[in-house]
Amino acid sequence: MTVPIAIIGAGIAGLSAAQALQKAGHSVHLFDKGHGSGGRMASKRSDAGALDLGAQYFTARDRRFVEQVQQWVAAGWTAQWKPQLYNYRDGALSPSPDEQIRWVGVPRMSAITRGLLKDVTVNFGCRIAEVFRGKQYWHLQDTEGCSHGPFSRVVIAVPAPQATPLLAAAPKLAAVAAGVQMEPTWAIALGFEPPLETPMQGCFVQDNPLDWLARNRSKPGRDEQLDTWVLHATSNWSKQHLDLPKEEVIELLRGEFAELVGCVVPPPAFALAHRWLYARPAGNHEWGALADADLGLYACGDWCLSGRVEGAWLSGQEAARRLLEHLE
Ligand SMILES: Cc1cc2nc3c(=O)[nH]c(=O)nc-3n(C[C@H](O)[C@H](O)[C@H](O)COP(=O)(O)OP(=O)(O)OC[C@H]3O[C@@H](n4cnc5c(N)ncnc54)[C@H](O)[C@@H]3O)c2cc1C
Repeated sequence: MTVPIAIIGAGIAGLSAAQALQKAGHSVHLFDKGHGSGGRMASKRSDAGALDLGAQYFTARDRRFVEQVQQWVAAGWTAQWKPQLYNYRDGALSPSPDEQIRWVGVPRMSAITRGLLKDVTVNFGCRIAEVFRGKQYWHLQDTEGCSHGPFSRVVIAVPAPQATPLLAAAPKLAAVAAGVQMEPTWAIALGFEPPLETPMQGCFVQDNPLDWLARNRSKPGRDEQLDTWVLHATSNWSKQHLDLPKEEVIELLRGEFAELVGCVVPPPAFALAHRWLYARPAGNHEWGALADADLGLYACGDWCLSGRVEGAWLSGQEAARRLLEHLE
């Protein structure tokens, strides 16, 4: 019997590690507390269709990630998004075209991690509470009290504050994760019928409670009926309003949106709010991944590099590389 490797977290970091380990001939078993893959790169199903409430688009700079994105494009999971971009600064809106290449999952952001799930064993709806080592192998305990294992090694691919308790068997790694601060983001979606009378499809906002606006159906492959907008608040505003009821968050951010968007904003036909408690790490790091190779415990995620999809994917690759290197 070959003892599989456990991966906690089916976001892009965990799936990147899973893919690299499988390619090297190892069997992996993923666990995720959510009901689908993607984590912060997931899309929320709603009455207004599937909405990208977390990652809005991603860029590719590292050669390895550029190649990976090309494969996702060839597989039909990814396409370029070319929004009509604006900037809002000092109370004024101005068009802000740029040369940046922006990628999105099609027909929704979660298409990428869904594609990566093929041929992978995964337990959804399973929140791991403890990672412990027996005489030879690792075991995981979930919050329902069920035990899973044995596993030869464990890769923890969750946001740093959630990784800290799971790294208890490697106190030095736990201390590194505990030192990483992650910032919250309130995201809301507003759907309009008829569509808003603006050519804007995306907007970077300065000096305002909002910092980003996107017209969801301007992304390739979307076919929603409503003109649905995703708005992100700044991390400062989100921190200050962390425990506000969702209805009030929607009301406040809708008001800010109506003031800056430059056209009449009728009452929305649809609205929802989502709070990302650990949206992004407060800063970048250069760890790649964390490893206690003798123990067989690894951690990866955007917080080991940069708070972006690319950073998370590269971190998953690095965790797999370090694990495989130790086996040689
Ligand atoms: C609002 C917002 C906007 C963003 N915008 C962009 C952007 O425009 N461009 C960009 O490149 N990036 C953006 N990002 C960042 C990007 O989404 C992340 O960097 C990336 O998706 C992180 O991937 P990950 O695999 O490291 O973590 P995650 O996606 O968080 O995956 C971790 C997974 O672990 C699971 N999990 C956690 N704890 C447990 C547990 N105890 N047991 C089992 N499962 C567990 C979670 O359910 C989750 O699925 C944005 C993020 C947010 C929130």
